[in-house]
Formats: sequence, C-alpha cells, structure tokens
Amino acid sequence: MTLLAYRFALDPTPAQERALRSHAGAARVAFNWGLARVKAVMDQRVAEATYGITGEDLTPSISWSLYSLRKDWNAVKDTVAPWWAECSKEAFNTGLDALARALKNWGESRKGKRKGKPVAFPRFKSKHKARPSIRFTTGAIRCETRHAILPRIGRVKLHEDATGLVADVEPGRSRVLSATARYERGRWNAAFTVDTEVSRPAPSDPGAVVGVDLGIKTLAVLSDGTEIPNPRHLSTALGKVRRLSRTASRRQGPYDPPTRRRRSPSNRWRRAAAALGKAQGRVADVRKDSIHKLTTDIARTYATVVIEDLHVAGMVKNRRLARHVADASFAQIRRQLEYKTAWHGGTLIVADRWFASSKTCSECGAVRAKLTLSERTYVCGVCGSVADRDVNAALNLAQYGRNELKVAASGAETRNGRGADRKTGQARQVAVKRQPGTATAGQTGTVPQQRGTASEAAHS
Ligand SMILES: [Zn+2]
Repeated sequence: MTLLAYRFALDPTPAQERALRSHAGAARVAFNWGLARVKAVMDQRVAEATYGITGEDLTPSISWSLYSLRKDWNAVKDTVAPWWAECSKEAFNTGLDALARALKNWGESRKGKRKGKPVAFPRFKSKHKARPSIRFTTGAIRCETRHAILPRIGRVKLHEDATGLVADVEPGRSRVLSATARYERGRWNAAFTVDTEVSRPAPSDPGAVVGVDLGIKTLAVLSDGTEIPNPRHLSTALGKVRRLSRTASRRQGPYDPPTRRRRSPSNRWRRAAAALGKAQGRVADVRKDSIHKLTTDIARTYATVVIEDLHVAGMVKNRRLARHVADASFAQIRRQLEYKTAWHGGTLIVADRWFASSKTCSECGAVRAKLTLSERTYVCGVCGSVADRDVNAALNLAQYGRNELKVAASGAETRNGRGADRKTGQARQVAVKRQPGTATAGQTGTVPQQRGTASEAAHS
C-alpha cells in the first residue's frame, strides 16, 4: 500500500465557499472547546495541589484521546453549539482530532519521548489567524475529472484537471481515503489522500547511473548533458513577489521596528500581505509542477540517481529570493527522488557533503582550489579540458555514484563507512507523511468506494 496525496485548487461557488468557511469555523469551535476543557481541568488540579489536596481527592484528570474528546463533545454539543446540525460531524471531528494530536505531541515531548524541538502546549485558534481547514474521512467523497464531491458541500468545481487521479481510481487500483479542504494563499484547495497499489515499471535504463546537478539558473543539468530549464513563468512570478514584498514593507505591519513591539497592522498592510501570499503561492505552484515532472522522468529512466547533499538548512538563510526559492526546491527534489526511485526499484545516492562536485575535473580528477560562482565554464589547469560548469559537476556526481556502487558490490561491510546516504526501497514506501497522531487516514472512517474500485485494499 502506498499513500499518495493529490492536491487540486478549487473554484467553489459563493454558497459552497460559505459552507466551507462555516465547516472550518465549526472545526475551530470544537478545537477551542476541547482545549478550554482540558486546560480548565489541568489548572484546577494544579490549584488543588497547592492547597495540599492529593490522590483521589483531586479533580479527576480527563482523557485527551480523540475517542473521549468526541464522546464528551457529543454530550454537550446541544448547549455549546446548538447549530451543530448545520455542519457535517466531520467538521467537529477535524477540530477534535487536531487537538488530540497536539496534546499527544506536547505530552510526549514533555516526557522526552518525542524527537526534535520541544512542542508547546496547544494554543487557542484565532478566527483571524487560523488557516481554515476541514478533513472528510467518511461519506460521499469522490473526485471526478473536473469536480470534487465533498459531503455536505456538494459538487465543487476543480480549477484544474484531475485526470491523473481519476485514471488510477477508476480501474480499481486506488482508493480515496480522505479529502481535506484548506484555504491557503487566497484560495481553497482540496487534497485527496489515496491508497494506491499501482505498480511502477522498472527504470527503462536499468544499468544507467545519472548525476543530477541542481541549479538556480537552470532547474537541473544531467550528466548526459540534458539541461532542464526553469519553468517559463518563474522569473515573472518572482518579480511580482519582489514588488509586492516592497509594497508590504512600506505599510504598517504587525512588527514595529523602533520599539521592537507587536502592533496591530493596518488594513492596507493586510491587503498587501494577502496579495504577497498569493504571489508566493504562484511561485511555489509553478516550481512544484516542474519539479514533479523532473523527478518523475529521472526515476522512470535511470536505475541509479546521484545528487549532491546541499546543506539545505544552512543555505535557506541566503537572502536572495531566487536562491531562496531554489533552496526550497532542492529539499523537495531530494525528497521526491527518494520515494520515486524506490517506487521504480531504483537507487538514490546522495554524495557526501564535502564532495567537491564543481571543483573537480571530470576528465582527469584534478581538484581546483577555487572556482567562483561567475565561472560558468570549467577549465582544467592540469589536463586542459573545457566543460560546462554544471555538466562537469553532474559528470562528477555520476562517477561518484559508480564508485559507490563498486564499493557496495565489493563488500557490504564497507558500505556505510563512506558517508553515502543510500536509499533503496521497496514499494512499501509511504509517500505521504502520516501525521503522528491519534488516528490515521484509514481509521477515522470508511469512504464508500468509487465506481469500479477494488474491494478492501489491505492496509499495512
Ligand atoms: Zn583535468
């Protein structure tokens, strides 16, 4: 089983948009209600403890599980939200599920059971700041070529074509598990989580090793000399982002530099910020499509793919916008190559962070001490060969991959000592990161299958 996410922009009618908003609002109400309740009990127990009350005399603690939250909500919804029947129960479930997860993460983080940064105690969701979202896991969820069918909301027009999803679901190879409608950057989107058993053919060139050099001026250059340009509208979209961010910075924003305090932003700033968010969304979308195409093509063709380990976390700090966008893409490309090569039974090799792919001569292996960013051509001082800078780097990456494969073939014990991050995998790879939490997509409900869908796909 592989979980895939398909995301489409929606074009809801005004009535549908109102329905989506009110559902998202209901999710927020349920979240805030549950949080207030949990907080009240916790505060009460703390207060009691200071009076010396202990053990069984304390106010009993309450469970944070989705199950108990939902049970408690159902007991009080007539008083707390007398209008509840206007919204699908999925709306309240969305809010309570988010709360259960947030509390679980906080609890585990506090006990040291969770890796990563400490997780803060959940905060109340503000009507103005929270991103409206609602997740449907039961009922009539379907996706057609031009429409999304959501319970209670109805047939919502898609802004784009969903043939890719429908083509997999119709012949019974995939099953829609859930649909999440979310308002982002000025527009509603629907993300379908699909359980798919589509098997993907082995790479068309099974012996081939390809080096992929990622860049800013071009999206990527392959070691066979193929150059994949940046999407056509990227520079226009970037120009718009630059202009709008200047506009926003001239208006009264939420941060007041002289006093270093927060302040209430002006309506003009809010408008500018919304426009900026939309333009940034456009850049992300333009880039996203081309990245998916690139990684799909590579994973389909080559059995072994070698990329650089771009130290992404550090590089994102770079202030230049094009650089910033490219860096964000590198992480995405790497992630997609990881799971897509695994789907096709290929291998992704990530070169050691210190591997000098740009400074090494792909002909003779000599390493230059210095190579400025403006030098677009690599001229070797030792053997005198001349090559395009990016092609040279890609060739070095391919060579690095071949060496790694040789080492791997000669003995498994030396394999991990080389610093190569080898990702091989089987079709079990889960493409969608499952939220660590109380309920997985498959557990919160069952969706009636779309026409022609295989019965009971096995979960793993
Ligand atoms: Zn040379």
